[in-house]
Amino acid sequence: VIVDADERNIVIVGGGFAGTTAAREIQRRLPAGHRVVLVSEESYTTFNPLLPEAVGASIFPEHVVAPLREVLDTTMGSRFVMGRVTAVDFDARRVTCTTLAGDVALPFAHLVLAFGNRPRTDLLPGMEAHALPLKTIGDALEIRNTVLRRLARMELETDAEARRSLGRFVIIGGGFSGVEVAGELIDYLHGARRWYPRVAMEDVAVTVLQDIDRLLPELPAALGAAAHRSLASRGVEVRLGARAAEILATGVRLEDGTLLSAATVVCTIGTRPNPLVDALGLVTERGRLVVEPDFSVRDRQGVWAVGDCARVVNAFDGRVSPPTAQFAVRQARRLAANLVASVAGARTEPFRYRPRGALAGLGHLNGVAEVFGVRLSGLPAWLLWRAYYLSQMPTLGRRVRIFVEWTWGMFFPTDVTHLRFTRSRDVERQAP
Ligand SMILES: Cc1cc2nc3c(=O)[nH]c(=O)nc-3n(C[C@H](O)[C@H](O)[C@H](O)COP(=O)(O)OP(=O)(O)OC[C@H]3O[C@@H](n4cnc5c(N)ncnc54)[C@H](O)[C@@H]3O)c2cc1C
Repeated sequence: VIVDADERNIVIVGGGFAGTTAAREIQRRLPAGHRVVLVSEESYTTFNPLLPEAVGASIFPEHVVAPLREVLDTTMGSRFVMGRVTAVDFDARRVTCTTLAGDVALPFAHLVLAFGNRPRTDLLPGMEAHALPLKTIGDALEIRNTVLRRLARMELETDAEARRSLGRFVIIGGGFSGVEVAGELIDYLHGARRWYPRVAMEDVAVTVLQDIDRLLPELPAALGAAAHRSLASRGVEVRLGARAAEILATGVRLEDGTLLSAATVVCTIGTRPNPLVDALGLVTERGRLVVEPDFSVRDRQGVWAVGDCARVVNAFDGRVSPPTAQFAVRQARRLAANLVASVAGARTEPFRYRPRGALAGLGHLNGVAEVFGVRLSGLPAWLLWRAYYLSQMPTLGRRVRIFVEWTWGMFFPTDVTHLRFTRSRDVERQAP
């Protein structure tokens, strides 16, 4: 089926940070006769930096995502197609995507590739089978439900060794996601315990494994140390220089042979290229699509790539942009300006961005941040972290809901709802 047989479609593949920003910015200055068609495999965009908060029930899962249809201005002819792009015919200038209505072909005048990357689940033996990744809202809910199942089982378990294993949560990776998950998890366990009176705090342990000698290598060493202190003071065990070698059903084997007994392992390390990269047959470097400094793909007229899936050199310092939301958003803004300029026959500009800094929320009114060279830790960093992410939410309604929810969470007990999507016909079949 060919839909939207319009030669002036600006097709954007991927509704993440880069794709949604590009869609919004292109719509603002839409060239006459053109329209934006956003194709993404889910109907919503996910605010990945808030996923650890969904794990720790600091925020409703629905609030970590925003419907893509809200991002688009349909009065301008923009359109959202829920589908997975599987191929691009650069000569016929159309993309093929799998949708609820079967395979659909979408012609394009311009094509923006913004499909991000995937978590890598085969980095270590046993990872696929026994570790929980964190990249989607489904992952966040799975981790939270697993934590609640462990606590429920601990209440009934009499064997001391089994209780110890059930109560230990190992997080592999001491980067942003790892420390944020650890902070959220320890708070959650502290808060949830009041509903599980047979689980003592000394029965539960959160351990972070970091292969290098400090946490948060993306930030100055002093802030990594501040995060370490904050987590340790709340009972998180941080093991530096501890490299996981294998993940088993019973725990994690470290490279030095030590076996850490743990029923739950969360893995926040490793990404792999999106399979679409291979299907495109474009030039890549380390799994990312190689682009010119203005995001255009060489020898492919009207094709652009941006965000995590693209290898974009930052003209500010000559370095390849890191795969972060901060860069994806900034790149998408410049890409939109370049795409519109190229339609008008004007000059495009290279991507040039001075990084503003980085923020990490550690839970429990604690955070670390470096913004414009100023280092913050504790409450000011935490407030800044929350204010920043609130400001990034797409609609006022969503911002207000999250603000109310965060405020609510400061005064009311932790939510321990174990939400499962059990259908009536499965009630008897589903294990408790
Ligand atoms: C847990 C976690 C925490 C993070 N914390 C931070 C942080 O604190 N700060 C920060 O700056 N960055 C953070 N990041 C990184 C940040 O989320 C990414 O750099 C950012 O999402 C990249 O944006 P993107 O648009 O390129 O890709 P994505 O946001 O991954 O979006 C890609 C989109 O494309 C869709 N898609 C994929 N394949 C197809 C296809 N074939 N067809 C159609 N659609 C497709 C996907 O469903 C997705 O919607 C974090 C990431 C994770 C996982």
